[in-house]
Amino acid sequence: MRFYCPACWADFGEDFDWCPHCGLDVREFWASKDYVEKLVLALNHPEKSTPIRAAWILGKLRDPKAVKALIGLIGKTKDVYLAVAAVRALAEIGTHDAIAFLETVCDHPARMVREAARKALDQDSCEPVNRQQPPNEELGR
Ligand SMILES: [Zn+2]
Repeated sequence: MRFYCPACWADFGEDFDWCPHCGLDVREFWASKDYVEKLVLALNHPEKSTPIRAAWILGKLRDPKAVKALIGLIGKTKDVYLAVAAVRALAEIGTHDAIAFLETVCDHPARMVREAARKALDQDSCEPVNRQQPPNEELGR
């Protein structure tokens, strides 16, 4: 079991109260965050499987607070599997912003990511999207 500082991502072999690297009060930090905020932070976790799990859970929670972080993640991650997980999570959250972003993922350099976006949008191909009918318009804003 490894422990990570949620601020600097230093890893330690023990569950410290204070990060030995940056001095963050780890207990206090976690106590001040809600579940979604913790998952959003876990998207930057250095251990590969953790961000993927976090993205998956965020999709299940369908909390719009996660949309911005997931979009940022797809823009910067080099991990195709993580990008796909983030695409799926955005599709599940399904806010207008999330769907509008997925339409732009059709230009993503990785085929797996483009495919995931295409499936999420339920399109036959990544052709320019008909913006006349945003999927969640009737949910109201
Ligand atoms: Zn730290």
